[in-house]
Amino acid sequence: MKLREFKYFSPRDLSSALELLAIHGGHAKLLAGGTDLLVRMKQRLLAPDIIINLKDIKELRGVQKMADGSVFIGALTQLTELITSSLIQKKYRGLWEAAKMVSAPPLQNMGTVGGNVAQQTRCLFYNQTEMWRQSKPVCFKAGGNQCNAVKGGKHCFAVYQGDLAPVLIALSAQVTLSGKDDTRTIPLRELYSGKGKQPLTLEDNEIIEGIVLPPPDKNRRCVYKKLRLREAIDYPLVGVAACVTLAVDGKTCEAGKVVLTAVGSGPVIISPTKLFKDVPMDDSWVNTLAEEAYKASKPVANVTTPPTYRKRMARVLTRRALNAVRTA
Ligand SMILES: Cc1cc2nc3c(=O)[nH]c(=O)nc-3n(C[C@H](O)[C@H](O)[C@H](O)COP(=O)(O)OP(=O)(O)OC[C@H]3O[C@@H](n4cnc5c(N)ncnc54)[C@H](O)[C@@H]3O)c2cc1C
Repeated sequence: MKLREFKYFSPRDLSSALELLAIHGGHAKLLAGGTDLLVRMKQRLLAPDIIINLKDIKELRGVQKMADGSVFIGALTQLTELITSSLIQKKYRGLWEAAKMVSAPPLQNMGTVGGNVAQQTRCLFYNQTEMWRQSKPVCFKAGGNQCNAVKGGKHCFAVYQGDLAPVLIALSAQVTLSGKDDTRTIPLRELYSGKGKQPLTLEDNEIIEGIVLPPPDKNRRCVYKKLRLREAIDYPLVGVAACVTLAVDGKTCEAGKVVLTAVGSGPVIISPTKLFKDVPMDDSWVNTLAEEAYKASKPVANVTTPPTYRKRMARVLTRRALNAVRTA
């Protein structure tokens, strides 16, 4: 499990990192906490010639209130920093819950918000050692032309299992991306292509600067529910984020979204206006949305638990999340 040799750069500011990336482009990989990247390198899933360590770039760290009321979370902010932020705990409860459920404290101390949203899709037949993988034909994700998880599958079905993205998308968060010549801020949902092989729309020369949360809103409620094998360490088998903005009567939904993770190659968004705009949050609303979540979930046999169970659990967790937001 030794790493292959690579050149290592540790720039002190964002513009130096962007310059390095512009020079080395596709040969370079960005390193934040390394909890996703280094594991893949050790398994020889990738062998970059150049590593650009972002950890010394102080300007990319921390949770900051902005003048317009929004909140900026720097990409290099560790998950532990999110968990210990009273602003996140009090005003963005669902995000706080999700961060607490990522793996376990040692990994939360290393893992960053940028690395979490930019993590790769995974597959039981791909995220394995080189020797293990040699027992199977080369799959789409590894550059081959078949899927080892879905018999006869015509594309890669690797699953996106990030815990933060569903909550952030349900909150309508945005992501700020910096390239050598410009910076763009886009809705976070647009960072995901929904494709197993190439799940991110991030360009080779771009760095995630951070996440922009909408201003706190006392009428907004947000919850995250996660199914995993053990109550620590494990990736989600299904994760459901529900965020709603309540009308003044406290019983009507004015706007909202349900976003699922681990049931497809990207976050799955359920947000039809007719189910969220001026709708009473009664039992029928909960059941209808839970059914929508069931239909939209398309898990396949590429994690340790059967897809039919995960699909059913998407419905159960959606019901639990919505019951929690309407009674909180
Ligand atoms: C045992 C184990 C359990 C895990 N459990 C979970 C879990 O339950 N839930 C979960 O969501 N994740 C889980 N993970 C995945 C991962 O540890 C976390 O998502 C973590 O937050 C990743 O952050 P990082 O800083 O370590 O990312 P890194 O490994 O440093 O980077 C991840 C990817 O993002 C890219 N990247 C990093 N920062 C930037 C940036 N600023 N701009 C552009 N690209 C960037 C890197 O190039 C790399 O491709 C687990 C990992 C392990 C090993």
